[in-house]
Amino acid sequence: MTPLPPGSTIGILGGGQLGRMLALAAARLGLDVMVLDPEPDCPASRVSARHVVAPYEDPEALAALAAACGVVTVEFENVPALALETLAGLGVPVAPGPRALAVAQDRVDEKTFLNGAGAPTVAFAPAASAPEAARAAEVLGGRVLIKTRREGYDGKGQAWARSADEAAAVFDALGGRPVIVEAPAAFRRELSVIAARGRDGAVAAFPLAENVHENGILRRSTAPAAVSPATARQAAEIARRVLEGLDYVGVAGIELFELPDGALLVNEIAPRVHNSGHWTQDGAATDQFEQHIRAVAGWPLGPVEATARVEMTNLLGDEVGQWRALAADPACRLHLYGKREARAGRKMAHVNRVSPL
Ligand code: AMP
Repeated sequence: MTPLPPGSTIGILGGGQLGRMLALAAARLGLDVMVLDPEPDCPASRVSARHVVAPYEDPEALAALAAACGVVTVEFENVPALALETLAGLGVPVAPGPRALAVAQDRVDEKTFLNGAGAPTVAFAPAASAPEAARAAEVLGGRVLIKTRREGYDGKGQAWARSADEAAAVFDALGGRPVIVEAPAAFRRELSVIAARGRDGAVAAFPLAENVHENGILRRSTAPAAVSPATARQAAEIARRVLEGLDYVGVAGIELFELPDGALLVNEIAPRVHNSGHWTQDGAATDQFEQHIRAVAGWPLGPVEATARVEMTNLLGDEVGQWRALAADPACRLHLYGKREARAGRKMAHVNRVSPL
């Protein structure tokens, strides 16, 4: 694909805060965004050149996107396969491609891919019935984390079991859907690497972030994380293997567990810009949103080195009411998503607290 020149239009499936920040980055590069999201008042709608309000599988909406856009990308992984197939059938490039999205949509396929690509994970087994879940727990040593194979996010659709019997009960409690049964990761810290692959195959990984979750939702990321050179090298190697293995184009977030000896396991791949990469907006030479737009538009990737130390904190629900005090703090860069309703636990904004490296 020849690089999309300024003035071109990029389609985005999904108009949440990630779509909004992608649209803002695209605008800086002279590119327009056409967002497809069924929600009329979605966060991206007020900063995008065009917004098609329709379901993701709507054939007319997808045809409108294909007609207007040089490339279509996504801001969430659970895009219906039919939407991607329809776009591909209409001849518009989709980045990342359908295979990367399919792999990231299924936790068993994802971990199978990762191990095949030489990216280590916890031991795991698929289960499609309560007895299978019990057997898997037995094989994996009793205490296991059971997650639905598909559609879990922010800690939803998963629960711990302490024994084979409990594993069978957890299987039923999760709705009797196909699951992955995972051995526990005895991690010291949770880290992530945000990396990009361009159309030309170039790969660039940002410095690592250290992440703290509360109730299954990311609360805080600190970057660059203090890691040993060996851990940094392993993260960069994992990023390269994953992106090359998926023939990936765009930015991906790779969630990692750091073991006590500094070795890394991959927890999961987010085939999109990632919450733990928001620090790059105020602490890296290129931010993850511009990097993604550059990659999918066929532009060269930007430089990824850290330019500042950042502590990124998500503002959930009515915490967004702190905006006035945060706006008055010279160390803080505030990013508000324009959501009208501050429902409990909803990601409303984030703040990057910046200090020198
Ligand atoms: P996930 O939905 O896979 O991102 O998991 C959500 C959170 O659960 C992770 O950020 C970890 O804190 C924890 N977690 C996930 N998988 C494991 C595991 N195999 N062992 C221990 N903790 C885990």
